[in-house]
Amino acid sequence: MKLRAWKFALIGLVAGSFAVTVATNAQEPQTKKRKVVKTDAEWRKQLSREQYAVTRQADTEAAFSGKYWNNHAKGIYECICCDTPLFSSKTKFESGTGWPSFYAPLDKSSIDTSTDYKLGYARTEVVCQTCGAHLGHVFNDGPAPTGLRFCMNSASLKFIKDVPQTKPKAEKKETSKTEKDEKKETPAKDAPKTGTPAETPK
Ligand SMILES: [Zn+2]
Repeated sequence: MKLRAWKFALIGLVAGSFAVTVATNAQEPQTKKRKVVKTDAEWRKQLSREQYAVTRQADTEAAFSGKYWNNHAKGIYECICCDTPLFSSKTKFESGTGWPSFYAPLDKSSIDTSTDYKLGYARTEVVCQTCGAHLGHVFNDGPAPTGLRFCMNSASLKFIKDVPQTKPKAEKKETSKTEKDEKKETPAKDAPKTGTPAETPK
């Protein structure tokens, strides 16, 4: 029995350290320099009241209220503030939370995380790397293959629907240059010889 208790303690430790590693990827997004920087007035002008509250003031939209929690179309979710592609419909899953949920971002480098104690306990906040927009939080209770659940606000995203492709540009047709063995035909060597034998007049 003692041994089993130890086993559970170990599992707990491992799980705990995993949670910490997700959280310690934090790079203090508030103080980080961003590629896209706008004034508060500019953000207010560009965004709707809700979009502003969520992305610039880290508010959370009400569950089941947003545009995308139930969106099943194929496409890309961009940052509403700076148009950076952040998530794909390929990693979206049904979380039952009422917020659009993904198990992975399109590119890890396009997001930043930090620890958020707003609710009295540690959560990992997710922001847009490019402009610092608050997107939502990431939790360790997601599905395979990552085990992560990126719980996002619809208000911070803009969905770009896939355009059905008619012809994939996968194969490039190599224009085969038929190498012509150009035989440079030199003019006939039997050129009329100049200088006809002089006829000696009699
Ligand atoms: Zn952004």
